[in-house]
Amino acid sequence: MNILVINCGSSSLKYQLIDTEEECALAKGLVERIGISGSRIKHETKEKEKEVIETPLADHKDAISLVIKCLLDEKIGAIKSVNEIGAVGHRVVHGGEEFSDSVLITEEVKKAIEKNVELAPLHNPPNIIGINACEELMPNTPQVAVFDTAFHHTMPAVNYMYAIPYEYYEKYKIRKYGFHGTSHKYVTERAAQLLGKDKEYINLITCHLGNGSSISCIRHGKSWDTSMGFTPLQGLIMGTRSGDIDPAIVTFIMEKENLSPAEINEILNKKSGVLGLSGISSDFRDLEDAAAKGNERAALALDAFEAQVTKTIGSYLTELDYCDAIIFTAGVGENSPDNRAAIINALSQFGVKLDRWRNKTRGREAIISSNDSSIKVMVIPTNEELMIARDTKRIVEEM
Ligand code: ADP
Repeated sequence: MNILVINCGSSSLKYQLIDTEEECALAKGLVERIGISGSRIKHETKEKEKEVIETPLADHKDAISLVIKCLLDEKIGAIKSVNEIGAVGHRVVHGGEEFSDSVLITEEVKKAIEKNVELAPLHNPPNIIGINACEELMPNTPQVAVFDTAFHHTMPAVNYMYAIPYEYYEKYKIRKYGFHGTSHKYVTERAAQLLGKDKEYINLITCHLGNGSSISCIRHGKSWDTSMGFTPLQGLIMGTRSGDIDPAIVTFIMEKENLSPAEINEILNKKSGVLGLSGISSDFRDLEDAAAKGNERAALALDAFEAQVTKTIGSYLTELDYCDAIIFTAGVGENSPDNRAAIINALSQFGVKLDRWRNKTRGREAIISSNDSSIKVMVIPTNEELMIARDTKRIVEEM
């Protein structure tokens, strides 16, 4: 079955057409600047033919029409008829407490996703727009929602409740939800395969380190704890997000700088993290370059990020009675040997050891720990689109 995977942002849209038998992408691309000047699509086929088309796109419906047009195109396309798309899988950021698994999209499901806009005001609205546009353009094709939060539904209350008055959980559903679930789930399943271990028994610490970063503690193949929280702002220091800080800092800065809730939100989400600390960049490559040239704040930002990852792994080790592997994934996790070395070398008291030659790998599946390491350390490139396609196929087959 061919599944069209759609990941809709406010002005952009990523897509992949995945053949689920071969588990490969027949075509993929990115539509940018939807609804603003300079709209364009970058489309690529399995044969690696690339095309950039610049054309005005008023909204997401225009964007998805163009994606379908490219997929059907004689020269750069991958299919002959829209009927060759068996289903559409949509990445939806927030599933709230309702969704513990991916679901077939119905009017009721759409209402529930809309209800969760309050919990993810930046992310859920474009996801809903994408779903509506696909429904209009492909009315007979089943649509499935795959939630970033769903994998973390198995967390126990002891790990998802915040110690604030209980009424806020009851009134506003304030609790930890966790994000990047599709990625943590993908690497968990892949690690079980690679280690030849039954998913029911696998214990892992999965580190998704990219622009946005989160770590999950996987107990018996399920999410037991995770570093992101009520929103994707909690947890690790990220590219532009603060991660954990003393909550009193928020009100202190608001008072001192006379800021509104929206303004402090913007500062903590867009101007903090390694960007805020270094004053240079949110991109880890820029920071590594600057640190190598002696920039102290870039070095501080990297050290603080790495120290926090180490401390989180250490705390998650205390939640497991054994750990089969520590997994690195996403942009930084897959591609930065220096980062991985700094993180794992600081865990030596647990007997975890890297093999410095194996750790030179970038963007490929590999075991990078030494043979005498107490816990295996692995790099597993994430593939959220494939996970969405697998889930979509499963849900459609259950129909
Ligand atoms: P997103 O959260 O946007 O999906 P990614 O997972 O693509 O992010 O990660 C992007 C981050 O990965 C960027 O900060 C980038 O600097 C970092 N990155 C990519 N390649 C390397 C590399 N070779 N060395 C260090 N960092 C890298």
